[in-house]
Amino acid sequence: MSKHRPTSELLYEEALQHIVGGVNSPSRSFKAVGGGAPVFMKRAEGAYFWDVDDNRYIDYLAAYGPIITGHAHPHITEAIVRAAQNGTLYGTPTELEIKLAHMLKEAIPSMDKVRFVNSGTEAVMTTIRVARAYTKRNKIIKFAGCYHGHSDLVLVAAGSGPSTLGIPDSAGIPTSIANEVITVPFNDLAALEQALQRWGDDTAAVMVEPIVGNFGMVMPHEGFLEGLCKLTREAGALVIYDEVISAFRFHYGSSQTYHAFADHAAIEPDLTALGKIIGGGLPIGAYGGRRHIMEQVAPLGPAYQAGTMAGNPASISAGIACLEVLQEAGIYDRMDRLASKLADGLHAAAKKNGIPLTINQIRGSFSAHFCDHPVTNYDEALDTDGERFGKFFRLMLDQGVNLAPSKYEAWFLTIAHTDEDIEATIEAAERAMAAL
Ligand code: PMP
Repeated sequence: MSKHRPTSELLYEEALQHIVGGVNSPSRSFKAVGGGAPVFMKRAEGAYFWDVDDNRYIDYLAAYGPIITGHAHPHITEAIVRAAQNGTLYGTPTELEIKLAHMLKEAIPSMDKVRFVNSGTEAVMTTIRVARAYTKRNKIIKFAGCYHGHSDLVLVAAGSGPSTLGIPDSAGIPTSIANEVITVPFNDLAALEQALQRWGDDTAAVMVEPIVGNFGMVMPHEGFLEGLCKLTREAGALVIYDEVISAFRFHYGSSQTYHAFADHAAIEPDLTALGKIIGGGLPIGAYGGRRHIMEQVAPLGPAYQAGTMAGNPASISAGIACLEVLQEAGIYDRMDRLASKLADGLHAAAKKNGIPLTINQIRGSFSAHFCDHPVTNYDEALDTDGERFGKFFRLMLDQGVNLAPSKYEAWFLTIAHTDEDIEATIEAAERAMAAL
C-alpha cells in the first residue's frame, strides 16, 4: 500500500535549485516532520489529490482552510472561467465587489464597511494600521501561538509556521517594532488585564483569533471573549478579530455569531480580518468593521491602504460562488458528523494501541495532539509529541491520506468528503497507530 514518489523527489531536487527551500511557503516543507521531499501534486478534485506519480490521496489539508467546498467545485470553477472570459483585472470598481461585500456584511453584522485585499496577511496588517490611526496609539496586544500572517508586527511570538520551525521571532524585524507588541497567553484574562494595566494607555488594539486555528483548534473558555472585549474597551483600545480561518468554517458566518457563544453582542469586535474561504480558493483578504472606524481609510480618511489586484473579478467571483455553495442547507451539520466519526475512529485506534491522543474538534475540523493533557493554550500545544506526529504523518501519507505537515495544523473536512473516505482514513489510522 506504501506510495512511491520518485517524481516528487526529482522535482524537489530541481525546485531546490530555483525556489528558496523548494517551496513558496515554509509550511509546505517537510522540515517539521522529519525532512525530505514534499509531495508534488498535479491535480485535485473533490476530497482527493493526485500526485505527479499518479498516487491518490484523501485530502484533509484543504489548502490550509480555503477549500471547504472540496477541490474544483463546479459552481466555483464556472464562476472563475466566466470571470476570466470577461477579463481578469480592470483597475476599476465592479458590481461583483458590491455583491460579495453585501454577502459578508449580512453574515457578519459587526462589519458596516468592508475593503478587499489579497491575503489574510494584508487584511490583518491593515486592521492594525486603521486601529492605530483611529486611536492615535501604537502598541498591539496579541496572544501567544495565534498566527496573524507574516507582517512585522504580528510575527512576534507567532503561531503555527514559525513555531514549527522553531523561530518564534523572525530575523529582519527591528527591535523597535517588536517592542510595540505585547504577547499574553490565550484564555488568560488575568494576564490580559495585567498587560492592559501596564500598557493600556498606549494600546491601539487587542488582536485575537476568537476561535484559534493555529496551535490546533482551540475554543476560548467561557467568558474569555466577553472579558477580552470589556477590558480592551475600558482601556480605550479596539478589539480586532482575525477570522481568516474561522469565518465560514463552523457555520455560515463568523465566530461572532457562532451558536456556542450565548451573547453575540458582548463579543463583537471593532474590526475583523478575513481571508481563505471567502475567496473560494483564489487569493483574497478582506477587512471590515464599524463605519466610523473604517472611515479612517483612504480615500475617506488618513490611513492609506491600496492594491492593484484588490477586488479582482476572478477572486471576487470565486468568493461569491463559494459562499453560495455554503448557503445550502445541512452542509455544516454533515461536515460536523463526518468529523465526529473520524475523531471517534482516531480516538479508538489510539486507545487500542495505548497512545495518548487529545482531539479538539469544532464542527467540521479538529486538531489531534499526541499528549495526555488538554490543549487550551500555546504552551500546552508545544508540550505535545512532535516526533510521534511526524511518524504518524508519514505513515498516513504512505497510505494515501494527506495531512498538514505540522503538529499544530488542523484537519479540515470539506463538503466533498464521504463516509467511505472517513472509513478508509480510520483504517489507515488504525494501521499507523499500530506501527507507531
Ligand atoms: N490569520 C490567520 C488566523 C491565519 O491562519 C493566516 C494564514 N494561515 C493568516 C492570518 C495569513 O493569511 P495569508 O496566508 O492569506 O496571508
